[in-house]
This record gives sequence, structure tokens and C-alpha cells, in this order.
Amino acid sequence: MTVTIQPPVRKIIHVDMDAFYASVEQRDNPDLRGKPLAVGGSAARGVVAAASYEARVFGVHSAMPSVTAKRRCPDLIFVPPRFEVYKAVSQQIREIFAEYTALIEPLSLDEAYLDVTENLKKMMVATEIAMEIRARIKQTTGLNASAGISYNKFLAKMASDLNKPNGQAVITPKNGPGFVEALPVKKFHGVGPATAERMKMHGIETGADLKSKSLQYLTEHFGKSGPYFYDIARGIDERQVRPDRIRKSVGAEDTFAQDIDDLELARAELRPLAEKVWRHCDTNRIAGKTVTVKIKYSDFSQATRSRTGTLPVSGVTDLFQAASELLATVYPFRRPVRLLGVTLSSLTNDPDGDGRPQLDLDL
Ligand SMILES: [Mg+2]
Repeated sequence: MTVTIQPPVRKIIHVDMDAFYASVEQRDNPDLRGKPLAVGGSAARGVVAAASYEARVFGVHSAMPSVTAKRRCPDLIFVPPRFEVYKAVSQQIREIFAEYTALIEPLSLDEAYLDVTENLKKMMVATEIAMEIRARIKQTTGLNASAGISYNKFLAKMASDLNKPNGQAVITPKNGPGFVEALPVKKFHGVGPATAERMKMHGIETGADLKSKSLQYLTEHFGKSGPYFYDIARGIDERQVRPDRIRKSVGAEDTFAQDIDDLELARAELRPLAEKVWRHCDTNRIAGKTVTVKIKYSDFSQATRSRTGTLPVSGVTDLFQAASELLATVYPFRRPVRLLGVTLSSLTNDPDGDGRPQLDLDL
């Protein structure tokens, strides 16, 4: 007699705060409630970091140039971001998650995967856990969260969008494959606009179309993403929830209202970027040895320059100095500069070195 032991079906919850930055602003300033609001950018420049639901009605969304947003919604109110507040709220939410499971994988300040297959509260039903967590988040922070519950990360992530805002949805092993087949591939997490366009050229517009292609075909045309696409077309995703996902770099960048062709002006723009990166490193006790400067020109071509020291960067002045020197190596600029970025990598979270992996903490 053969006894087959099946691994238990995993229970994954994807929790996603609703219009997070915008909701925090509306929570903290009653004058902003019920109004179309954009966090980040300004009427004249930059991009929208987050939009309230009132603004989304007008077609305003994150990553949209502020100018476009203002045109779509003339009454749009622009509010500067308060990342310190968002981080503090994010921390409160993580503490709630941690009461249920140690397997938490944050994707950003406002989203995380939780593996609750074996949870600390010994609760059997993942939908009940999701309900409780959302209620606790509301109670503690005053904010709404949505959740997706499923047997893998891909489907949990897709599910959290289904009843947004302030809702949750379950995708069971029974209805997972059917759900994926009906879904347009451009909505798949992990399929960006460029990939969706390429898939379309191959006649792939839905999960069912994707499923009809062989593993060989997908690998041939989509490289190392091929096997991932092959699996998710069948509702299969074996990726684990990884609580110790190691962050590889900390970076900040800025697009300018006007392109810059003067070296001193460009250097001056590096200062706030270096400060932002350093503040994050300092708060999270991260050190890094590699400094990279990214330069994007007016024609959207791009250059990067890096330098790796034998010792970690020792402070903001050190970081700014290294970035300035790297920038000087591409001067005179071949075109005016439209964007600059500063990144610190080869990270360690403890300069004294006990080799512990660092928790993922997003800016
Ligand atoms: Mg969100």
C-alpha cells in the first residue's frame, strides 16, 4: 500500500490599504475629506504619488503627471507627502499582522502577503483572519484595507482588487483556474504594459490564451518569465511568502521641472536625494558600499556611474561627495538632464557585521 501525503493547501492573504497616502491625509485633515486629492507632485510639475477615490472618478491615478491630473480634475488638491507618518502607520499595521503570523512579506508600505496556513491564533478559516485583521486595522488606524485570500500569492494579490475599496474576496482552489482563464493578461500581476503588448502580438489576451501555449513556446518568447507565465495560467504559483526578503538597494530620484545643463545646478539637485537615501539608511541602520548615480537625459537616454568603496559610506556628506564626483565624470552632459537618481547598494544592515539579513523596509 502506498500512502501519499499531500502538503496542506496554503492559505495566503494579500492585504492592501485603500488609497493609502491619500486616506492618511484625509484622516488627518477633515477639510480634505470627500474631496479629490493628489499626494505628491504639484499643479505644475512632478507625478501623482497617490490619488483619493474622489480624484479617481476623474481618471486621476498614481504615476500620472500632475499637469494631466489637474487637466482631468481642475479642482484637484495637491498635498505634499508625509512619509514619516505613512511609515509609522505602516508599522502599526505590521504589528497587527505579526499577531497572526511571522510569515509576512511586505511589498511596500501599504501592501503585504501573509501566510496564515499555520497561524499564531490557530484560526482555521483564512477569510475570518482577513476580516479580523481589517477590523483591527480600522480600529487602530482609522483606515480601510482590502484583502484577497487564496492558495497562492498570485491569486491572493488578484483577489484583493476584486472588492476594493474596503472589501475582500476569496479565490478557492476549485475556482482558481477558471478565474485565471477569464482574466485579461494585462491585469496579471507581473505583466507590465510592454509585456502585455508583446503577448497581444502573440495572440495572447486572456489567461485562456496563455494557457493554450506550451512551456517551450513561452520560454522561447518570454525568456525566464516563461515558466512563471505557464504556471500562473493554470492558477499555480509556488513562490513562498518570504519574511526575510533582502533589500538590495536604497535609492531616490527626481525628475526636474526644467532640464538642467549646468554642472553646479545638477550637483545641487543631488543633495536632497543623498539626504533622503541617507535618512532611510540611518533610520534602519543600513550601510552600503556602492554609490550609483543615474542620469536621464532630455531624449530619455540614460547613463549610470557607480563606485564601490572598501568601507561602507560613512554619512550623508560622504554619500553626496561620491555622487557629485560620479556626476562630474559625465560632464559636459551630452544632452540636458531631466532626471537624477542616487542609489546606495552592497548593503549590510549592521556595519559591525553579524550577517543577519535585513528586513525589507521601503522608502
Ligand atoms: Mg494600496
